[in-house]
Amino acid sequence: MKYETVIGLEVHVELLTESKFFCACPNHFAAEPNVNTCPGCLGFPGILPQLNKVAVQKALTAALALNCEIALFSYFDRKNYFYPDLSKGYQISQFHVPIGSNGYLDLEDDQGLLKRVRIGRVHMEEDAGKLVHSPAGDTSLVDYNRAGVPLIEVVTEPDLRSPGEAKRYLEKLKSILQYSSVSDCKMEEGSLRCDANISLRPVGSDTLGSKTELKNMNSFKAVEKSLEHEIKRQRAILNSGDEVVSQTLRWEENSQETIVMRGKLQAHDYRCFVDPELAPIQLTIEEVEEARQNLPEMAEARAARFVKDYKLPGYDAAVLTASRSLADYFESCLAIYDNPKAACNWIMGEFTARLNSAGIEVDRCPFTPHFMAELLKMIDDGLISGKLAKEVLDQSIASGKSPSQIVEKENLTQISDHGELEKIIRQMIAEHPDSVENYHGGKTKALGFLVGQVMKETKGKANPQLVNELLLKTLEG
Ligand SMILES: [Zn+2]
Repeated sequence: MKYETVIGLEVHVELLTESKFFCACPNHFAAEPNVNTCPGCLGFPGILPQLNKVAVQKALTAALALNCEIALFSYFDRKNYFYPDLSKGYQISQFHVPIGSNGYLDLEDDQGLLKRVRIGRVHMEEDAGKLVHSPAGDTSLVDYNRAGVPLIEVVTEPDLRSPGEAKRYLEKLKSILQYSSVSDCKMEEGSLRCDANISLRPVGSDTLGSKTELKNMNSFKAVEKSLEHEIKRQRAILNSGDEVVSQTLRWEENSQETIVMRGKLQAHDYRCFVDPELAPIQLTIEEVEEARQNLPEMAEARAARFVKDYKLPGYDAAVLTASRSLADYFESCLAIYDNPKAACNWIMGEFTARLNSAGIEVDRCPFTPHFMAELLKMIDDGLISGKLAKEVLDQSIASGKSPSQIVEKENLTQISDHGELEKIIRQMIAEHPDSVENYHGGKTKALGFLVGQVMKETKGKANPQLVNELLLKTLEG
């Protein structure tokens, strides 16, 4: 039988605030456990929660950026369950009335057509702590740094039809949330986490099949892989005439397979009720409209501006604006360097390749936009060749030193001195009489060979254009 895949995503996003949701503890990623805690977020009894208004403002911005209807009146519920990372015994969340509902996000489907993915709800909640299991599996430690960090949860309707669509949805969501400064969306630090609900149904059917929930996917690639894996697994079950069991599965990155965590809890298992210690959230129409007016320029609009103002090809503009930090990097570089296309080529090509292979985020890279401008100017001035520039880039990223410091220290400046080059050229001609003969016999390839020899002799430091010119002159002279 032919099946259709049905996917819905639930994405938890940590909000970019200075402090936690209901206490004054810092909301910063910390390597040391339990340093960002107080009696409030540790769940001691008798501590009253105090609402962080900036968090509400960020949630409102996110809901607006995701085209949601805004609830002017909403409130917090207690979602009751026990787990060691939740010392209060309940999580403060918005169950009954989310701040945002009925939103959407547009993306390309697998055929390249525009598709609207409905966002059922955007609600606020606090994060739980984190359990750290020992490799031997005999001890678990708990870290409450994350407990009480403000989150939004963005829940789609089951509108996604393939792992590829799911990945594109996440990329788009991340871009929107980063652009609107709601979150830094750093998956590796857990500030964006994704759970997926997935089921199969016969093509043409409009009832939903029995679904499983996938957790523990720590990259967009893992989301795509685990969904692909789960589609195969469910299809095999259905084809054998069995039923898919509704349960929660954990993606195991090492073995690339899903493992059963637990049977799935239903919403009513949590006994949600209004939190009696927190006042309802009341927004005015003016506040909502002001937040709407303050939404920043998003990726698509920025890409259009890059095409118009900097005369970049549409593809390049889309790549640069896919993340706000890369687009910011590009524009900061242009503030001190005036060739947009050259900057774009280097940023999209050599620079991005190095970030990806080192796994560094652009805003944490020691190679600043200022360094990039400096490097590009050195190429333009003929101080270093493009090839050497790549080496300088490598060294600068590794050491944090500026390109000019590296060029000076390593004596990498391009050789543009006629006398010096002519001497090497005469030497190469003397060493390769066959090539000279071939050249005079009409084999122009021999010229390339001789240029190569000069470049080799100078360890790539000769100005290749000049070598070409001088070599021709010598051979023809
Ligand atoms: Zn606290």
